[in-house]
Amino acid sequence: MDVQGKLEILADAAKYDASCASSGTEQRDSRDGKGIGSTDPGMGICHSYAPDGRCISLLKILLTNACNYDCLYCINRASSNVPRARFTVSEAVQLTLDFYRRNYIEGLFLSSGIIRNPDYTMEQVVRVAKSLREEHHFRGYIHLKTIPDASDDLIAEAGTYADRLSINIEVPTETSLARLAPEKDVRAIRRSMGRLRLKLDEATDSSAKHGRAAPPRFAPAGQSTQMIIGADASNDRTILETSANLYGSYNLKRVYYSAFSPIPDASRALPLPLQAPPLVREHRLYQADWLMRFYGFDIGELTEPLEDGMLPLDIDPKLAWALRHRDRFPIDVNSASREQLLRVPGFGTRTVNSILAARRVTHLRAADLARLHVPRKKALPFIVLSDHRPAPALLDSNRLLQLLRPRPAQLGFGF
Ligand code: SF4
Repeated sequence: MDVQGKLEILADAAKYDASCASSGTEQRDSRDGKGIGSTDPGMGICHSYAPDGRCISLLKILLTNACNYDCLYCINRASSNVPRARFTVSEAVQLTLDFYRRNYIEGLFLSSGIIRNPDYTMEQVVRVAKSLREEHHFRGYIHLKTIPDASDDLIAEAGTYADRLSINIEVPTETSLARLAPEKDVRAIRRSMGRLRLKLDEATDSSAKHGRAAPPRFAPAGQSTQMIIGADASNDRTILETSANLYGSYNLKRVYYSAFSPIPDASRALPLPLQAPPLVREHRLYQADWLMRFYGFDIGELTEPLEDGMLPLDIDPKLAWALRHRDRFPIDVNSASREQLLRVPGFGTRTVNSILAARRVTHLRAADLARLHVPRKKALPFIVLSDHRPAPALLDSNRLLQLLRPRPAQLGFGF
């Protein structure tokens, strides 16, 4: 099989992994003429093969889709009847360089099915990154998928070449993992995450001691993981509790939520009907995750009142919280604390920063909301401004939810 044929198989096989994004890395460029490519820190370039085939600018491939393991939710599992392919290390390297030179990509996301054993697989993955960095002076972004239980030395080496490392936790609970991915061991996954965290902490400490330019860096964009949503019966509360635990224990940069996508040639042993959960569920989980990490919400505030443990799909979790806590509103935008402002529906962190800056020189009025890109309809019932006070009857009204619920829209291609 030629490289093009392999690429078709191995890029397609990689599209089910959502855990790649290239934000938060260090700056690296090739203006000195010695390297190829660059990374632009903090720009949040986050391109990949989405399940629906949307654009990417990371070359996202597996080294091979032949796998010794038999995870039921995975199209690449050993018992799956799909065409198999495997890149050699040099093919993967060459492909990355070719794509880079043609300006198709800004980096590489590389994962692999388990070949022989975790160490052998990890070694192959590391060899690609090593060759790119050391032989070809590749300065683009590299995200490597780490194989749980690969040796410490290999993980340490991977971190010297990669911008980000990730290990997928796969499903929210240990019981589900045992049922759906019998060869995977949640303790091994967590052990690997713990070892990665130690190495990341050591690298941060040493960088702080020696200054910004001090090598060696270890995966400067940190570690991330992915959880598949809807392949088991876990509710949103369980998913968010697992995430909170992962963020707290391993200092992860991101937990990616990937709505289970019914795979061709799915295993008959998969316990659920083969239906993807609504994509909006994935979106609500990201919103709740964001609220916990950047808005000061406690997980219990978002999930405890929910009878079935599921976030509402029709409105976002912050609006749902505000509607459950109407007694805390309206909030005076001209005098409220940062923490209070962050709780107002329609106010993002940037909006809150702008409000705090603007308040030093002026009193904010309703007309200022447009300048701050605040959705007026959503925010006005919850706030007081110099020239606006919501009617108490509206805030208490049963109609408020109806007024704020977005109109159902037909999903389509937009043409
Ligand atoms: S280890 Fe499991 S999830 Fe990973 S490629 Fe193999 S079968 Fe798929």
